[in-house]
Amino acid sequence: MQTDFLVACHECDLLHRIVGLPEGGTGICSRCGAVLVSHKRNSIDRSLALTITGLILFIMANVYPLLAIKSGSLFKATTLMGSVEVLYSTGMWQVALLVFLTAILIPFLDLVSRLCILIPLKMNKKPWKLPFIMSFSQSINPWGMMEVFMLGILVSVVKLVKMMKVIPGISLFAFVLLILVLAAIATSFDTHLAWEKEEGER
Ligand SMILES: [Zn+2]
Repeated sequence: MQTDFLVACHECDLLHRIVGLPEGGTGICSRCGAVLVSHKRNSIDRSLALTITGLILFIMANVYPLLAIKSGSLFKATTLMGSVEVLYSTGMWQVALLVFLTAILIPFLDLVSRLCILIPLKMNKKPWKLPFIMSFSQSINPWGMMEVFMLGILVSVVKLVKMMKVIPGISLFAFVLLILVLAAIATSFDTHLAWEKEEGER
């Protein structure tokens, strides 16, 4: 990481020169105390490992059954995509679209766009179309609402348990882990490193 650069505080706009920030160190605004820059240890390696883990969990969450219900001789299991199809076939296409976008497509695009930045950085190369990928990633990020979907599933499970036997599937566990991994990626990735590479090779 470059150790001498200018950074503006995102809270109060005061311009600071960061000089010789050690690994694991954090730069704090002298006026308002906001964190300006955090030089995380092994940021690229950790973020890349977490992103690959995230993709594996994403595949597991989509391939394996989410839930199974058993009541007498009735046994029904569904996958995440299966639940979207059921919503669509029962006429709730708006809800189906919302679930597909917020629980499947956007988390997938989020992971892929992070990979597009992290793989070149790991290979010590400039990421392709970095400004576009960064702004795309930031604009889709608020729409990834796996936590809300998870909460919805938990509420239905609690209600269904009274009427029938509910068996949680592998996908449900992968889903919970994926939510945690996505949070870990957000805190481990130092975007400053990517911008530095972009500036350095211009
Ligand atoms: Zn400040």
